[in-house]
Amino acid sequence: MNNVIQYRRVKCKNAISKSTLPGLDYTINPYLGCEHGCIYCYVPDVLRNKEFQNGWGTIVYAKENIVEALLKQIRAVRPGVIGYSTVTDPYQPFERRMCFARKIIETLLRYRFRISFQTKSSLILRDIDIISGENVEVGFTITSLDKEFTKKFEPNASLPEERVQALETFSEKGVKTWIFYGPIIYGFNDNDENIHNLVNLAKKTRSHILYDKLRLKPIVSNRIKKVLGEEVFEDIKRGDLEKHFRKAYYKVIKLGKEYDVKVEPAFK
Ligand code: SF4
Repeated sequence: MNNVIQYRRVKCKNAISKSTLPGLDYTINPYLGCEHGCIYCYVPDVLRNKEFQNGWGTIVYAKENIVEALLKQIRAVRPGVIGYSTVTDPYQPFERRMCFARKIIETLLRYRFRISFQTKSSLILRDIDIISGENVEVGFTITSLDKEFTKKFEPNASLPEERVQALETFSEKGVKTWIFYGPIIYGFNDNDENIHNLVNLAKKTRSHILYDKLRLKPIVSNRIKKVLGEEVFEDIKRGDLEKHFRKAYYKVIKLGKEYDVKVEPAFK
């Protein structure tokens, strides 16, 4: 995808929000929109914003006062586990310019928050010197080790080998790591070889695996049709999607048991 990205700056009132996501007390999202532009991303549906729904991946708002807002808010918030980030990728390309992460991480750790990172970007390696200790964990979404798959479905995220290398680096440093294998897309990333590679990688890096299914919400279906074409869409939704998904996750669980890798659904 060669879309021109529109970068904008906005102000925010609060930096931290309460979270209802499993395992998280709070979230912090320094950006709105995500340049990674994953075709299956259902965040635009969650945000209910026409601009994002029509141009997901091409508009990114940076909350330019996020660090100041965090400093103002943090004393009034009881420390807990904070998801960094949940409706965007904290290390998408705009972060190279905005450089929010270091100040946010230092502030959260100083105030005894535990940070759970989730990213598809190797840019997180830039901050590896401060991402350490028991109060951090780093999750990499690795849907496939096949770069043709990722170029198609995650056009502007780091290549799989870059994510693998970043995951290995954090693991070698002793940071708790995990792999997000989701969404599982029938006929594209649910093959035995891919599952085997992911479980192997989890074993090697002492990571656990969270898996998730594809949610074919109308916005996602339309984007798949628009970007990848009707034929790809028809291939994906062929047959009973729930059944295909269950087949794939049984394989992950079975292999996880064999390799002594913890495997869990992302959403119970
Ligand atoms: S990296 Fe995450 S938030 Fe960004 S487009 Fe992909 S799925 Fe959506």
